[in-house]
Amino acid sequence: MTAQFTLEPLVVGRFPAFPLKRFLYQIDSSETIEAPCISWLAKSTSTDAMVLVDTGPATPTEETAKFHVEVDVKDENRIDRVLRANGIDPGQITEVLFTHLHFDHCSYAEFLPNARILVQRKELQYAVAPNREHRTGYEAGYRNVFPGWMKVFDRIQAIDGDIEVTPGFRVLALPGHTTGSAGAIFDTAQGRHAVVGDLVNQMENWKGANGKHIPPTQNCGIDECMRSFARLDKEADIVLASHDYRMLDSSKYG
Ligand SMILES: [Zn+2]
Repeated sequence: MTAQFTLEPLVVGRFPAFPLKRFLYQIDSSETIEAPCISWLAKSTSTDAMVLVDTGPATPTEETAKFHVEVDVKDENRIDRVLRANGIDPGQITEVLFTHLHFDHCSYAEFLPNARILVQRKELQYAVAPNREHRTGYEAGYRNVFPGWMKVFDRIQAIDGDIEVTPGFRVLALPGHTTGSAGAIFDTAQGRHAVVGDLVNQMENWKGANGKHIPPTQNCGIDECMRSFARLDKEADIVLASHDYRMLDSSKYG
């Protein structure tokens, strides 16, 4: 039997009023929606492997609150507390994949003491010194502000391109939302499930009107987004979203 996983969405924060047009490229809408920040927990059905894809935002400080859209992170949203509430010891997490290093995806991994932390090398390099217009997303270049992922700098393993991490769990380079974005592909009893960060914020990014892929508005190039979507068409059967409450309609996938 091949190694298989099941996946569960964990809410680790929320945006009370996020402009929909920042999720979906060229959508004609002035609507704002409440959007969750989802950390995806993937458990092996046959080994001790227990993986988290992204860990959510940190509670804003006086400094960081100034440059982000409002984000709400309650004490109980911290990833280790969410795990405990689900009956999991945070020390059981074996790997964390940061799909990218925007502030709402990579905080509090210091509370997962045994996990090795995987990030694409390109993303790591860019996050340290992003272009001016990307600085807020990475929280880079502000006095007294340290990006959350720096707290696990000693455990980071930089990866290049596509790798198999453990049987049934692969990482693919999927540039588009950011230049070093990655996705996780898990083999499950219900087909290959992909968690791809903010390439797919909302379900409509993956399947919008007429079943077409819609790039995220925040992107490093539309062509790169479309190439990554085309890869996913081949590599995944089901693609899960990062900021969509409809993902919680099921408590378990795969
Ligand atoms: Zn995000």
